[in-house]
Formats: sequence, structure tokens, C-alpha cells
Amino acid sequence: MDNKLNFTAELKLNADYDIIVVGGGPAGCAAAIAAAREDAKVLLLEATGCLGGMGTSGLVPAWCPFTDSERIIYGGLAEKILRRCIAGMAHVAEDQFTWTPLDAELMKRIYDELVTDSGAEVLFNTQLAAVNNNGNAVHSIVVANKSGLTAYRAKVYVDCTGDADLAAWAGAEYVKGNEIDGDLQPVTHCFLLTNVDEYGYHTGQPLHSNNPNSPIYDIRKSGKYPLISDHHCCNNLVGPRAVGFNAGHMWQVDNTDPTSVSRALIHGRKMAHEFQKALAEFQPKAFANAFLAATASLMGSRETRRIIGDYYLTVDELMAFKSFDDEIGRNCYFIDVHHAANAVGTDMEGVAHQFRFPKGASHGIPYRCLTPKGINNVLVAGRAISTDRPSQGSTRVMPVCLVTGEAAGLASAMAAADNLGNVHAVDTADLRHRLREYGAYLP
Ligand SMILES: Cc1cc2nc3c(=O)[nH]c(=O)nc-3n(C[C@H](O)[C@H](O)[C@H](O)COP(=O)(O)OP(=O)(O)OC[C@H]3O[C@@H](n4cnc5c(N)ncnc54)[C@H](O)[C@@H]3O)c2cc1C
Repeated sequence: MDNKLNFTAELKLNADYDIIVVGGGPAGCAAAIAAAREDAKVLLLEATGCLGGMGTSGLVPAWCPFTDSERIIYGGLAEKILRRCIAGMAHVAEDQFTWTPLDAELMKRIYDELVTDSGAEVLFNTQLAAVNNNGNAVHSIVVANKSGLTAYRAKVYVDCTGDADLAAWAGAEYVKGNEIDGDLQPVTHCFLLTNVDEYGYHTGQPLHSNNPNSPIYDIRKSGKYPLISDHHCCNNLVGPRAVGFNAGHMWQVDNTDPTSVSRALIHGRKMAHEFQKALAEFQPKAFANAFLAATASLMGSRETRRIIGDYYLTVDELMAFKSFDDEIGRNCYFIDVHHAANAVGTDMEGVAHQFRFPKGASHGIPYRCLTPKGINNVLVAGRAISTDRPSQGSTRVMPVCLVTGEAAGLASAMAAADNLGNVHAVDTADLRHRLREYGAYLP
């Protein structure tokens, strides 16, 4: 049976922009702001109806640490965004730079304001649909939204989709998940419980799976809540009587496969309801009357594609705290690769691959991890940069994505202005100098 369709259409082509950023998560917001403040004409395309990605539509309830236990090392826009978030949360101390709770609605407004104030334009509910190449450069992209299909052409494209959609469709080399068997880390469908008794929450056993006395272990032992897949349970008070959960796992879900994501969203919503009932039973002082206020509209995908860039950062380099001449930021988040399905119920549950940086230690992130090999006018920032899998378990978190996003945004503007859009020709000494002027931590 013929299951292919040749489709040709004459589309309206919009060539008004210097830079197009695709994906408005932490990386995409930082990229758009950093490019627009160089006076580039910037368009930010986002598939959902708000900015923030996993930190808003994904309901991730906390920022990973911004410090190396001595100082803030995710500077520039990352630090600015963190401080804006803290200032908007009455219950968070002004110097809480580790595991800072995250109010998703507040973050949506912060990103809206910072991005629009920078001069970048935003188009919501707009999904990248296709990429047209011209030799080793992207000529134009096609997007889908309520106007149907429209083509856009820019000098440089910054791929902040998390899944490297644009780079992959432009023909960039990539790896997906585990290099050996393609296995992907489990996804998590985050959710929000409100009407929580805060006194009960703070005085009861901490629910986090790191606490061996967490009620999550009793919930699992009871066998009454079979959808709660394992002990994974992180949670934060994100607002008055409101606790955000990053809890539970689902395996064999691939964010680049809409069928598996759709199935997981349906399953995840059931799982969140089960968590609500289980917590009411096993932690009643806090959750007896809790209300399941929201489940995330974006599935929590930890990994899919990672591009192969001009440089491929390895875990040995990360654990050796390696520095690079072209580094655009530093990182010290621990290696956080979530366990495979066959580890559930074994000693390996919750362990996977872990490495923690000692106080004051960090590694550099080379600019070349953002430049897909062989494609001239595309940069990649955020979760899909060029690293091996264990390193991605560290670089995938939001403070790092903000840093790579800011660097990619500035580099895109430099490439558009000086190098005929060639991102491989950007003067990295100048890039680092300018990032430092904007507050980047580049010791
Ligand atoms: C379950 C889970 C828990 C986590 N917990 C934490 C935590 O506690 N702290 C922390 O700091 N980090 C955490 N992380 C990591 C972090 O949230 C993400 O890795 C990070 O947000 C990635 O940033 P990003 O900008 O690369 O992509 P994302 O945040 O995923 O944003 C990508 C954006 O691009 C849009 N998009 C995607 N494809 C397209 C397309 N084709 N066209 C148009 N738009 C598109 C999406 O709608 C989205 O808004 C967690 C991640 C997961 C999955």
C-alpha cells in the first residue's frame, strides 16, 4: 500500500527577521532576549500559549541550584531571572539560590515581560513543521498555526525546542538517549496540589524519596496505588497552600513521537489523581483535603535527541572539571540520569548515574557544543546540546539551559551581523568578553 504523499504548496514567505528562535522554554527565552538586545530583529516561536517550557507548561516545581556552594555560577540573564522569581515569591528568602521553588504563573509573566521588553516578538500556538535547506544552511522554515502553513526566513535560527527538532530536520547529526540501545530516561508528568495544610506539610516526614522514612515508601508497600510506578518524589511549596510535584516515572515515552506522548499524558493524569488519594491517606496532616489543581500540559521529557556539535562534551571531561578556551558558561549540577524501568524495586532504583561536584568545582561548556556540525546558520541551546548522555544528565537543567540560551542568542546576533550568518565563524573571545559584560560567570 502506498503510504507516502507528495505535498507541494505555495506559502506566504516572511523574511522580516534576522534571528528566529524556535521554542520558548528557558533556553529560548534567554536566546531571544540576548539576540534582541543586540538590536537584531528577533522572532520567538512557541508551540504552546506561554513561555517557560518545562518551568511553566511542564509544572516543574523548583529551580536546580544556581551556586557551586560558594557563589552563583549561572550569571547574566539566568541570575536576573532567578532573582525576579524570588522577588515575586513572598515565602522564599532572598538568598535561597538552591532548589528555589517556582511559581509557574509568576514565571510566565516574568518571561513575557523580559522577552517583549527586549524587543523580540513572540508568536504563540505556533509549531515548527518543516525545514528547507539550501546546501549546508537552512534557507527557510515552515510553521503551522491557526493561519495554516507559513514560511519564515531568517539569517540565523536558534533551536531551543529541547528535542533539536529544527537541527534534526535540517539534517544535523544527533544521538538519541542511550548511545548503545536508544533507551530513554523515564518521563514525569508534574502536577499541583492545592489546599495543602502547610503546617502539616512542614512538620510531617519530608516526602522526598531521599528520605528513607518518606511516606512514598509506605504508599508503594501498601500496593493500593499501582499507578505510582516507583519512589521518585520531589515536591516544593510553590505558593500559599500549594505544593508542586515532580513525582512518578513512565518509561518508553519518546517526546518526538506524539503517539507515545499522548498515551503518557492520559496515563499521567490518572497517576496524579492516584498520588492525590495516596497522599491523603498516608500524609493526612498535610494532604487530607488537598485538591488536584493542575497537571502539566507538557509531558516532562528528560531526554530525546542530542546534536553532534563541533565539540562533544564527555563525562570524563565533566568529572575532571575541564575548562575550555571557548567556554560560554560553567556548570556544576550533579549527574542526574534517572533509572531504567528494570531498576524499579532493585537496589539500583533512584541511583542510575550520579556524580556530585565538590564545593567550588565546575566544568566549562564549550561554545562548540551549541553549533551543529556541518550546518552554517543554526545554533542549538538547552537540553539538546552536544554532550554524551551522562553529561546531559547534568547540563539539561534549567539554570544551564538559561546560560546556553543566552550564549546562543548573543552568538546568533554576532553571526547575523558579522559572519553572513555562519555560526562556526563567531569570534569566541569576543563572545566571551561580551557575555562577561552582561554578567556571565566565566572565571
Ligand atoms: C520531569 C522533569 C523534572 C525536572 N526538574 C527540574 C528541576 O527540578 N529543576 C530544574 O532546573 N530543571 C529540571 N528539569 C529540567 C528542565 O526543566 C528542562 O530540561 C529544561 O526546561 C529544558 O529547557 P529547554 O529550554 O531546553 O526546553 P523546554 O523547557 O522543554 O522548552 C522547550 C519549549 O519549546 C517548545 N517547542 C518544542 N518543540 C517545538 C516546536 N517544534 N515548535 C515550536 N515550539 C516547540 C515547547 O512547547 C517548550 O515551550 C526537569 C525536567 C523534567 C522533564
